[in-house]
Amino acid sequence: MGEARQKAIKHQRIRDGEFPCVYCGGVVPGEEPDHMPPRILFRRKQRPNDLVFPSCSGCNRGSAAIDTIIAWLGRSYPDSLDKSEREEVKAISSSMITNYPEVASAFHIDPEPLPLSQAQMKTLRGMTTPVNVNDPYIHRCIDFFGAKFGLGMHWKLTGNCVPPEGRVYPQWFTNYHAVAGALPSDLFRVFPNPLPLVQGRLHTAGRFEHGSVRDGEYSSHLAIFGESFIVLAFVAPNGPELCFAESGALECEPGCLKAGYPYGLPRLSADELRQRFSRP
Ligand SMILES: [Zn+2]
Repeated sequence: MGEARQKAIKHQRIRDGEFPCVYCGGVVPGEEPDHMPPRILFRRKQRPNDLVFPSCSGCNRGSAAIDTIIAWLGRSYPDSLDKSEREEVKAISSSMITNYPEVASAFHIDPEPLPLSQAQMKTLRGMTTPVNVNDPYIHRCIDFFGAKFGLGMHWKLTGNCVPPEGRVYPQWFTNYHAVAGALPSDLFRVFPNPLPLVQGRLHTAGRFEHGSVRDGEYSSHLAIFGESFIVLAFVAPNGPELCFAESGALECEPGCLKAGYPYGLPRLSADELRQRFSRP
C-alpha cells in the first residue's frame, strides 16, 4: 500500500475516534486530525503528511491561536524573496493584528540589545529584527506551543498519551541566542540529527526540523523553525519534576490548550493595545 493511502487511512481512523486525544491526557476520543506544525507554516499550506495527531475539538479550538502565531513567527525570519509567499505572510499578519493583538503588538518595542562581538554581528547580517523575548504574551504562546509539541511527540515516540497527572516543560531560544552562544551547550549532542518532514519530493528542510529522545519514562523533543527559533519540550509523564520546574520552565499539564488564547494571561483593553502598538 502506498504511503499516501496509509496516511489517508490513519486520518480516517482519527476521525472515527479510534485514538484518544493526545493533548488532554488520553481520556477522550480525538476526532480531528491536528497537523503539527500547522499547515499555514508552509507555502501554499503544502506540507508532508507527517506528524498528524488525534485531537478533540476542545484542544483543537484552543490551539488555533498557537498555530497562527507559530506560522507568523516561523515565516517572518528571514523575509522571503518570493512575492506570493510575502502575500501569505501579510495575510497571517493581518489575522494576528485582528485576533491576537497582544502578541502582534509585542514587536512594537525596542529589542533589548544583546552584547554581540563583531563576528557575531556578521553572522546576523541579513536577518531582520530578532524575536523579542521579553514580552509575556509571546512567551506564553510559544510556551504553550512547546507544551502541545511535547504532548504530541511523546505519543508519537512512546505510543502512550501523557496522562492527566503528567507534565510538560517547554523552553525556547531565538536566532539571537544562537549567535550569542547562549543555546544549551549539549543541545546538538542530545539531538544530533534533527530531521525534516518528508513525503516524496516535498520536504520541510530549512523551515522545520525535529528530533526526539527517550530516557526511561521521560522524553525530550526539539523543534527547529528555520532561522527564527527553536522550541524544546521535556515530558515527565508521572507528575511534576522539581529539576525542570526549578529551571524556570513553565509547568504545563495535559488539557492546558483548552484555555485558549491568551493562555491564562488577561486580554488587554483597546487603550492598552493602542499604547503597545504606538511604541517605537
Ligand atoms: Zn483534547
